[in-house]
Amino acid sequence: MVNQVAMVAQQLQFSELVQGYWRLAEWGMTAQQRLAFLEQHLELGITTVDHADIYGGYQCEALFGEALALKPSLRQQLQIVTKCDINLYNPKYPHRNINHYDTSKSHIIDSVNNSLANLRVDNIDLLLIHRPDVLMDADEVAVAFTELKQQGKVNHFGVSNFAPAQFDLLQSRLEQPLVTNQVEINPLNFEVAHDGTLDQLQMKRIHPMAWSCLAGGDIFSGNSEQHVRVRTTLTEIASEIGADSIDQVIYAWIRRLPSNPIAIMGSGNIERVRSAVTALDFTLSREQFYRVWVASKGHGVP
Ligand code: NAP
Repeated sequence: MVNQVAMVAQQLQFSELVQGYWRLAEWGMTAQQRLAFLEQHLELGITTVDHADIYGGYQCEALFGEALALKPSLRQQLQIVTKCDINLYNPKYPHRNINHYDTSKSHIIDSVNNSLANLRVDNIDLLLIHRPDVLMDADEVAVAFTELKQQGKVNHFGVSNFAPAQFDLLQSRLEQPLVTNQVEINPLNFEVAHDGTLDQLQMKRIHPMAWSCLAGGDIFSGNSEQHVRVRTTLTEIASEIGADSIDQVIYAWIRRLPSNPIAIMGSGNIERVRSAVTALDFTLSREQFYRVWVASKGHGVP
């Protein structure tokens, strides 16, 4: 069973594994099947769900909302995360000529209103700024956040893919603590462990949320030398710790990081979700952790 962890704002608790819904539109599920999947991961204790306005070309939140509307009482068991600020060139927005970022107050508020309508809920537990916007005016974002909080539309705020200085800038204008920085962490790419991002979060005792833990599935199929080295090492460690599959080693490897990342799963296959839950029982030694590090980098530690 998956436990709950307190986020920096003590009123907010997340499950220690999160179900990601980026790929929901690819799963080809009926509304009833989407509801069944949601109920199945809730039964495992996975109560936190990760969305963004743009997922599935602006479709995924609505697909989720349609399923939730079949059993609205489930809302009370969920913590809903969604994001804003990526503006995609999309038929839904024909006036846009180019993909870009938008952290203006009006865009943040419009995006949240759309997310609430699509998800068919009254409020969002955590809103993230999806990507750093070079044109971000932190004071303006703070005004948007305050209004959304006062209106009861969003309870908590955070960021995604932010560098430490960007995180500090936004935090400096807010009264509430930012709850997380959602970043890419997997054995093929763990730049955030070296560029100060995870150090900052550990310092502030903030749980990172880790996206694409399995490198979007690439870790199972990639053919580069790095992929092969990493897969070989993960397979060796799987047999040492009694894991059924390398995904379990990967989740244990990410959870070994002292900033205590919360892994977001991207699979729509409930058996793979169950496999990730099993990984919560494994703890890697320092040497096992660093064997994956070395396999990924292609050289020993300096
Ligand atoms: P992921 O877990 O790295 O990749 C999921 C993909 O891997 C799915 O296509 C899945 O296919 C496949 N997969 C899983 N286990 C497999 C196995 N044993 N063999 C072969 N393929 C396997 O996660 P992700 O979807 O890239 O990202 C997870 C979540 O993070 C997203 O849903 C989203 O919520 C969030 N995210 C956030 C950002 C951001 O910028 N903040 C960026 C990307 C993602 P099946 O469905 O068939 O199992």
